[in-house]
Amino acid sequence: MTSNPYPLGLRLHGRRVVVVGGGAVATRRVPALLDAGADVLLVAPELTPALRARVDAGRLHWVSRRFVPEDLDGAWLVQVAVDDPIAAASVSAVAAERRIFCVRADDRTAATAWTPAVTRHGPVTVAVLGGGDPRRAMTVRDAIRDLLAVRLAPDGTAGRPDASTGTTGGEQAGRVSLVGAGPGDPELITVKGWRLLTEADVVVADRLVPGLLLDELRPDVELVDASKIPYGPSRAQEEINQILVDRALAGAFVVRLKGGDPYVFGRGGEELLACAAAGVPVTVVPGVTSSIAAPAAAGIPVTHRGVAHEFTVVSGHLAPDAPASLVRWDALAGLHGTLVILMGLKNLAAITATLIAHGRSPQTPAAVVQEATTGTQRVLRSTLGAVAAETLAADLRPPAVVVVGDVVGALDG
Ligand code: SAH
Repeated sequence: MTSNPYPLGLRLHGRRVVVVGGGAVATRRVPALLDAGADVLLVAPELTPALRARVDAGRLHWVSRRFVPEDLDGAWLVQVAVDDPIAAASVSAVAAERRIFCVRADDRTAATAWTPAVTRHGPVTVAVLGGGDPRRAMTVRDAIRDLLAVRLAPDGTAGRPDASTGTTGGEQAGRVSLVGAGPGDPELITVKGWRLLTEADVVVADRLVPGLLLDELRPDVELVDASKIPYGPSRAQEEINQILVDRALAGAFVVRLKGGDPYVFGRGGEELLACAAAGVPVTVVPGVTSSIAAPAAAGIPVTHRGVAHEFTVVSGHLAPDAPASLVRWDALAGLHGTLVILMGLKNLAAITATLIAHGRSPQTPAAVVQEATTGTQRVLRSTLGAVAAETLAADLRPPAVVVVGDVVGALDG
């Protein structure tokens, strides 16, 4: 069969698609069919756990047996996802007789339809057929996906969001995304966060945001360095909220890029409320938080079987005896699990003394991880009793995470 395939976009919403087979291939094919709204009938004596979960959730119909021709009654499309070539051939023979297109995982040349490699971006779907070579199709698809991530607005229109909507930048044109940038390594931003960053008109970035992410912004993007805003911390936060709201109301797509996760000691909640109060649409993209990633980068799992069944993340920016402190350090001292302290270096001596005074053993392993996941990461391993003095002696500095608990040695051979 040397002629070219004829590409089509099948609109499967509410239409019956029969998938024969319940193994790895079916597991990979079914989600896209469900995403297209297809009425999926799965015919297979057994299912993978992932497929079973979808059946249990009521997303598709399953008949637990081998294929019979009547299964194709009312079908618009068949996907054959069984290894056995004889069984597959019999399904495709029934499909051919009934003029139903049939995709075959086991034998592309015997199939009457091929599934392309796909990338989706809003309403735009790009499907690539590789002339019989699925790897070639995927390579081309990946290249196109990278291009689209940069060139397309989230609604799939070409160009930047504000430039493409055809509106004059009225009140509803702009919006804000609070995006977690991850702990430091620029590759630890999420795929979604990275895409939004490439689409932003304005980026308002924190001090802890990986510099390399900002290096890659288009030259026409307005970059606001939130750490350079003068005034005290509370006034500065008001100022940041105002910048987010003003730019969005002027029609811009504003990405508020924050270190780690926006909601872990990041004041993301305040920014969300400020946008909502001003009627600005706002979304949140979670990030990899340093409270988990910094220990991990130092070889410390925050939980470990048989060692710790909990981890508690706490801010150490206020001393334990500070009137404004919301932390029950005495209660934390009674826990056996992992304690992760952010912003804790300044008060580390007071914090560790308080934990020991309330009963946590001074021998408890402890570690400090500075500038985790970056090229300048430093790790100090110590004990609860000694960590404050050793941190001073080693001249460790913020940003650093302190980890207390037996997990600190859990992976040491
Ligand atoms: N939202 C951030 C935390 C903001 S509070 C998150 O989820 O990670 C700032 C504190 O986070 C710092 O004082 C430090 O305790 C910690 N921190 C952030 N990045 C870090 C890094 N790369 N290494 C160690 N600690 C880090």
